[in-house]
Amino acid sequence: RGEFMAATAACRSMEGRWSLAGSTALVTGGSKGIGHAIVEELAMLGARVHTCSRNAAELEECRRRWEDKNLRVTVSVCDVSVRAEREKLMDTLRQTLGGKLDILVNNAGQSMVKAATECTGEDYALVMATNIESCFHLAQLAHPLLLRSAGGGASSVVHISSIAGFVGFPGLAVYSMTKGAMNQLTRSLAAEWAGDGIRVNCVAPGGINTDIAKDMDPEIVKSQATQLPMQRLGETEEVASVVAFLCMPAASYITGQVICVDGGRTIA
Ligand code: NDP
Repeated sequence: RGEFMAATAACRSMEGRWSLAGSTALVTGGSKGIGHAIVEELAMLGARVHTCSRNAAELEECRRRWEDKNLRVTVSVCDVSVRAEREKLMDTLRQTLGGKLDILVNNAGQSMVKAATECTGEDYALVMATNIESCFHLAQLAHPLLLRSAGGGASSVVHISSIAGFVGFPGLAVYSMTKGAMNQLTRSLAAEWAGDGIRVNCVAPGGINTDIAKDMDPEIVKSQATQLPMQRLGETEEVASVVAFLCMPAASYITGQVICVDGGRTIA
């Protein structure tokens, strides 16, 4: 209790509880979609953010736009499915964020829509490496950095899984396995790291309006969306705001939770 009181003394004000000022964050896959919105949300709330993806030109364009908006965001190229690149990313982070990390958001993901009988060994390995192996390894690598700012629930890991981790969808067998595994990894790490002052939570989006939806036939998207209780797809900002909340002092007693942001899809 003493540790909690000391750690939260500085953020008992309304402003402190709902702010990320002074925090540092790593968000994977921030050049597009949900990750891009998370980077902006965390940076607008005062965090210094580092993000990565595989496309250098696209990342540089994002970095310039963020600079124009006075957001403190650094970028580097990293394919999170490759172990050596994940290790290099952490080395970069020690330089760019001064070796201090308060927030890790494992967002980069590989979707794969294919009948289970058609999936090759390469398909399986790619989805596993990108979605679950990277998530576990990046959390492992980040642990010593997160420990430095831990205390009173100040350090936070958030995984972006999917409602496919709960619900069966045809063509998503391997993807769903990884997302279900992310949900369980969240609970296990939360139990293991609670004593270290590191909170671990997960956000499971339903259909969100990103490139995934833009690539689909608009009529199919519309008909699927109208079957949802809220009758529309979600927007990236609607996922980002939940991630930001989970990282804030305001959420200091929440750990090991998987929160669906799905317009009611999993209650329907
Ligand atoms: P997008 O395809 O819009 O964006 C994905 C981002 O991750 C891009 O910046 C991409 O950049 C990056 N990325 C992808 N693979 C890698 C990799 N191997 N290494 C580094 N960066 C990578 O996807 P979404 O925003 O839609 O999805 C984000 C997360 O949300 C994923 O984990 C996804 O599974 C999950 N999700 C999405 C839903 C949706 O409806 N959109 C629903 C449920 C969950 P680049 O390709 O240049 O590397």
